[in-house]
Amino acid sequence: MEDVKSCYLCDRLLVDKWEDNHNVRCKCSNCGTFWLSFDAQQFLPPQIVADGLKDKRYLLSGYVRELQERGAEPPWINLDNYQELLAFAHPPKTLGDKIERVLLYVYQKTNELYDEVPIDVNQPAVVYARSKTQFESWLQACIEKDVLERPYKGDTFRVTLHGVEIAERLEHEGPGNQCFVAMWFSEDMRSAYRNAIKPAIEDGTGYEAITVDTREFNGDIVDQIIAEIRRSHFIVVDLTGHRGGAYFEAGFAMGLGLPVIFTCRSDHFIDGDRQKLLHFDVEHFNFILWENELQLREKLSNRIKATIPLAK
Ligand SMILES: [Zn+2]
Repeated sequence: MEDVKSCYLCDRLLVDKWEDNHNVRCKCSNCGTFWLSFDAQQFLPPQIVADGLKDKRYLLSGYVRELQERGAEPPWINLDNYQELLAFAHPPKTLGDKIERVLLYVYQKTNELYDEVPIDVNQPAVVYARSKTQFESWLQACIEKDVLERPYKGDTFRVTLHGVEIAERLEHEGPGNQCFVAMWFSEDMRSAYRNAIKPAIEDGTGYEAITVDTREFNGDIVDQIIAEIRRSHFIVVDLTGHRGGAYFEAGFAMGLGLPVIFTCRSDHFIDGDRQKLLHFDVEHFNFILWENELQLREKLSNRIKATIPLAK
């Protein structure tokens, strides 16, 4: 078989590639390092095209790179989880978001005031840009907004005083180390929270699980829930019992671009057919189905470690 040398995610020439039985570990200058399953090596690019997500591929590069910029292990990508990784990507949307993203990237590489930071525009994934040209235009916008300057017209940039002020404020406002949990507050689900969900979120990750008891759903609690979700880095939604509140909280978090991990106890699916019971199209979110607390704890812990960067 012909050896594939270009990146499965961004088509650039791979820097390195290791084979390990049926898996392959790729190192790309743009995406960083990631593992691909055997089936993904064969079918990932055509599958992305078949799923109509070809033009979203840069988001996968961006998310894989972001995980590593934050110190996570190289992620595993397979045909079952790639859409979930795509859904976790949160690219900057408005022009203001793009300027902030580029500014923060340069700022985080700055040790001392006025440090010159080399930027390689051939690595657009560091800021979720689609291409070199787009990354260049975002850098130019940062210069015009007086948050970055380019001292020698070359490839090095530095953050202006005005940029430092903005970056410090943005870092301060960033999402905290909390994970909001949306779920049904029945007696047995409280036990599942204590024994499985909370330890899976907190053990060895640096995150703190937080939940708001929604048995008495009123206006004040809704405000409190919204504030807690805004402060969260990601959220876990257990749909056992199919409470409207959990769907509302999942939708709100997704609107904010937060990663959402869905779980559900197996007996709340009819004959294993999720479509009959779930209230909106969450098929591609790769549900964690569980039968007991031990299983929930283990599966959720593995998922968090594989898809969410460790807390700072
Ligand atoms: Zn790549």
